[in-house]
Amino acid sequence: MIIDDQIYDVIIVGTGAGGGTLAQKLAPTGKKILILERGDFMPLEEQNRSNVDIFKRERYHAPEQWYDRAGEPFSPQMNYAVGGNTKIYGAVLQRFRERDFEAVQHQNGISPEWCVKYADFEPYYTEAEALYKVHGQAVNDPTEPPHSADYPFPAIAQEPQIESIVEAIAQQNLHPSALPLGLTRQEDDPTNDSEVSGIAPALTHPNVTLKTGAKVVQLHTNPSGRAVKGVEAEVGGQPFLFLGEIVVLACGAINTAALLLRSKNDVYPNGLANSSGLVGQNLMKSLITVVVQLSNQSNSGSFQKTVSVNDFYWGDADFPYPMGHIQSAGGLLTDIIFAEAPPMFSVLARFLPGFGLKQLATRSIGWWAQTEDLPNPKNQVRVEGSKIIVDYTANNREAHDRLIYRWTDVLKTVEKTLPGFQQIIHPKGESPLQVLANQCGTCRFGEDPATSVLDPNCRAHDVENLYVVDSSFFPSNASTSPALTIIANALRVGDRLIEQL
Ligand SMILES: Cc1cc2nc3c(=O)[nH]c(=O)nc-3n(C[C@H](O)[C@H](O)[C@H](O)COP(=O)(O)OP(=O)(O)OC[C@H]3O[C@@H](n4cnc5c(N)ncnc54)[C@H](O)[C@@H]3O)c2cc1C
Repeated sequence: MIIDDQIYDVIIVGTGAGGGTLAQKLAPTGKKILILERGDFMPLEEQNRSNVDIFKRERYHAPEQWYDRAGEPFSPQMNYAVGGNTKIYGAVLQRFRERDFEAVQHQNGISPEWCVKYADFEPYYTEAEALYKVHGQAVNDPTEPPHSADYPFPAIAQEPQIESIVEAIAQQNLHPSALPLGLTRQEDDPTNDSEVSGIAPALTHPNVTLKTGAKVVQLHTNPSGRAVKGVEAEVGGQPFLFLGEIVVLACGAINTAALLLRSKNDVYPNGLANSSGLVGQNLMKSLITVVVQLSNQSNSGSFQKTVSVNDFYWGDADFPYPMGHIQSAGGLLTDIIFAEAPPMFSVLARFLPGFGLKQLATRSIGWWAQTEDLPNPKNQVRVEGSKIIVDYTANNREAHDRLIYRWTDVLKTVEKTLPGFQQIIHPKGESPLQVLANQCGTCRFGEDPATSVLDPNCRAHDVENLYVVDSSFFPSNASTSPALTIIANALRVGDRLIEQL
């Protein structure tokens, strides 16, 4: 093994929403920072999401296989590159709602309380929105939590066809509002991500080093197990050992759990930092379904998602439990999650025979219905040698079904007001296991070392110099999208680290 001759103040593993943001926050301290990223910089043409080829189904999947509980391999939706999954995300940057931080009764169980509350996150949400140039307008949404500052940029304009649908939705006594988006406003790649807002500014500081193509495979502790001493990585096929005073994992919820489980040693026979037994458990990934309106009027087929509807977030008169969040899907061709749902296109083709895919896309308006799934220790990540096993069964499904049917009713009423809409369709069944966009929860944070892996500052209870800043820390999911909360948390943990450094 080649031992790197430097000793770093901080080693960050992963450059996605958590790792990229933390690097940016710590860079101005002047401390010696090493960032290890298994992927590379994405070529510019790959980043141009408007050219996404929906036939190339697994373009953005990791070049490796994971396994389901029955041992069947699948290709996970993970983007190993500088910027991680934010290089391919929709850039919807929403705050969790105030009640998302509290214990909430759902139809299928309890969504547990967080040890840190909305008020603690609020300044970091504001900082995160400034950093990722969020365009939005915090009015009209009955669930919108308090903001100490306006969004840094105004919400972007609606596609004309969407504008008239929004009016028809509002007439039903509902509250469609602007979807907050992190945008660079550059034509070739308008979305803002953790390479643009995190890694690039961090690398302008001479004290920060990024090594790409560096896959971390194991963490080594001192004999007592109280501190990580070495970070072992494969770089260009060679084993390297990097030494750091503080080690921060940000590999994404599944890879971080797998890395800790693989780093077991005599002190931690069940995995590093795993005296609670909870590393890898309570995996959540959201219930997500697309609902499509078919129209005989065409739209541009390529436009931003812009609408959010949260009237059913906490339930409605017929269902007193949380149902979830609705957001417009934007131009279907630009929405790469469609690459996960090719059956939808065969359904669309049946409704509009003779249409090419481009015509289908310009004649349809998509809506994402998103419902929180609940933590369950049986939903877990395991490792067997080099294999990663994702053992997950969706829960809270009735709430999700109710949301889909409620939303379908809303769109049927829209059809009556607006000429030209012909059909509303949605696929049956939950999104496949490989759709892991919203993975979280595998190293939950909390006050009690017996019931959590990380402390409230996202430091491992068991290991004094080990932190986690990806989505692993979530004790519960929410129905809004996760990235802004991951970014805000990385900024929050960054402040704690700066105090310590
Ligand atoms: C198609 C798609 C659309 C999405 N749209 C939205 C959206 O609109 N809004 C939203 O809020 N969220 C969205 N998400 C989810 C969002 O992208 C994730 O929640 C977020 O990126 C997770 O951040 P993270 O830091 O936990 O991990 P990631 O962003 O996944 O970053 C993990 C990083 O760690 C690296 N890595 C992994 N293992 C290792 C290792 N062993 N050694 C070194 N490096 C390693 C990876 O290459 C990667 O760079 C979307 C996701 C997808 C896939």
